[in-house]
Amino acid sequence: MGKIIELPEALSNKIAAGEVVERPASVVKELLENSIDANSSWIRIELEEAGLRSIKIIDDGDGIENDDVETAFYRHATSKIGDEQDLFRVSTLGFRGEALASIASVSQLTLRTSTGTETGKELVIHGGNLISEQKHTKRKGTEINVENLFYNTPARLKYLKTVHTELGHITDVINRMAIAHPEIRFECDHNHKRLFFTPGNSQLLQVIQQIYGMKIAKNMLPVETTSLDYHVKGFIGKPEITRSNRNYISLIVNGRYIKNPFLNKAILDGYHTFLPIGRYPVVVLQIEMDPYLVDVNVHPAKTEVRFSKEKELFEVIKEAVYHVLHRQRLIPEASKQPKEKSEQESLDFSLGVNKPEQGEAVQERVDSFDTPLTKKTEEFGDASQLFEDVNQLESESDLNDSHEQQEKVESYHFKEERERLPYLSPIGQLHGTYILAQNEQGLYMIDQHAAQERIKYEFYKKQLGQPIKEVQELAIPLTFEFTPQEAISIQENGQELEKVGLFLEPFGDNSFIVRSYPSWFPTGEEEQIIRDMIEELIEGKSIDLEKIREEAAILMSCKRSIKANHYLNRDEMEYLLNELRTCHDPFTCPHGRPIVVHFSDYELQRMFKRIM
Ligand code: ADP
Ligand code: MG
Repeated sequence: MGKIIELPEALSNKIAAGEVVERPASVVKELLENSIDANSSWIRIELEEAGLRSIKIIDDGDGIENDDVETAFYRHATSKIGDEQDLFRVSTLGFRGEALASIASVSQLTLRTSTGTETGKELVIHGGNLISEQKHTKRKGTEINVENLFYNTPARLKYLKTVHTELGHITDVINRMAIAHPEIRFECDHNHKRLFFTPGNSQLLQVIQQIYGMKIAKNMLPVETTSLDYHVKGFIGKPEITRSNRNYISLIVNGRYIKNPFLNKAILDGYHTFLPIGRYPVVVLQIEMDPYLVDVNVHPAKTEVRFSKEKELFEVIKEAVYHVLHRQRLIPEASKQPKEKSEQESLDFSLGVNKPEQGEAVQERVDSFDTPLTKKTEEFGDASQLFEDVNQLESESDLNDSHEQQEKVESYHFKEERERLPYLSPIGQLHGTYILAQNEQGLYMIDQHAAQERIKYEFYKKQLGQPIKEVQELAIPLTFEFTPQEAISIQENGQELEKVGLFLEPFGDNSFIVRSYPSWFPTGEEEQIIRDMIEELIEGKSIDLEKIREEAAILMSCKRSIKANHYLNRDEMEYLLNELRTCHDPFTCPHGRPIVVHFSDYELQRMFKRIM
């Protein structure tokens, strides 16, 4: 007799559950996907103990027909695809037919559903076994209550983290779903307290406001672009609103929240020098495309996808982001301080006291405005703090109902700002570090070092953009030594370097000599640049001239800029400001730090209580 048996359905469901249902947040995700697929316009989520005690999801969607209710719990039972062809054009969030079977096998579940045209049904299933089945009301929609998750898989239960951590994962899922579907009203309660809701009026910016707060919503720029294959739409944060991680980047493809490092990179490339090193933007992009162009059947959790024209999409996204940023005037307003700071503190801040890095101060303070819903919960103090913050979020959202407030948000975003940096007349200098300047719009503080870095950077970039063929003789030839392996790779690929005007002659065992260099190299940096280029070659990368020039320009601009504590006379200040105005991007230094901070007349008057 053979030893191979087919596993009973209940057991194979439990095995599948291992993949599909990792933690309470996965249950929430699968159930929300089902409600969205059922064309719901309203979805309510009620959680107890971060979903460990219960997760109840109620929707007003299509409901399940009486005859299908039991079938829905079979493994691989789905109404969403019918044949192999359908798998290549999935337009729903679900299609694997695994979720209900998996969830029901590891919990105590009650389902109530009706299509609204016939009496509904109620099913109770414990650990995959049908406990009872009875009639239910005719209310159109579905209600699923998942209780005691993992009660029959003790190892999984043990693996779960604290209530805070699990709740953090759940809110993250709900946030993403809400961002992906602004047309649906989401309501979420935890332990009978409202966590958050979205209005369901298709206004993405309002969803962003609910999730990330007013501060961020006010600093988002609309983006929209269409190519042959893609339609990209959404909001990108101004560079002054940054975060220390990529969690604030949301990518939605055909209504599905996805994770994709490659497309994240496209966004970051679009920001280019606008972001400080190690900081990430807040971005929400909704990408629509023919389902044929994206394979969603890559992973059971369905958040990873594959694109058939990935490179093209990369370029579309990068261009869209770049374009928006280059159209805007991007001077951070000094008045954008969180209100909770004390008067004295905010005054100190406004005047730059003890804050040599003004730009960083702006960023840090803005960061303190993070909403807890999006933060990893380990970082929370305790639950009461969480709810306090959430309540604050709610009262903020009440503001949103006021028409006036909404108009304010909109006018802020959609005003086309043509002039990049206005004319500024210098008043004086603070601590030999900041230039103070004015115009009819108020007071400006300019970080002189950052300003000069920007000016030099653009100068060198232009200079370095000159023809690559011209070469210059070195007074003293440079020699470079490598390991035998590296030397082989250099000999094999040396022609790559010759193409860009660099000639390496073999010189002894593993050494090479360079007698000339392309004339675009900045003086004083020849050796460094040559070494960088050879290293790129050794690492098997193709020589990216654009990138090398870019890095050289940043290096040069930084080396030769006036530092802090350097006194400038009026003419020098005037000269610097005028040079800055001619810059293509006068708002951030090449490392992404802000150059100019603005105190509007209004803000000054408010500070001195001339107006209230
Ligand atoms: P899938 O979503 O991959 O089809 P599921 O196991 O999640 O598989 O659900 C099985 C089926 O149950 C779905 O195809 C759908 O027909 C039905 N269903 C599940 N949840 C709902 C809901 N909230 N409203 C209407 N139908 C639902
Ligand atoms: Mg599903």
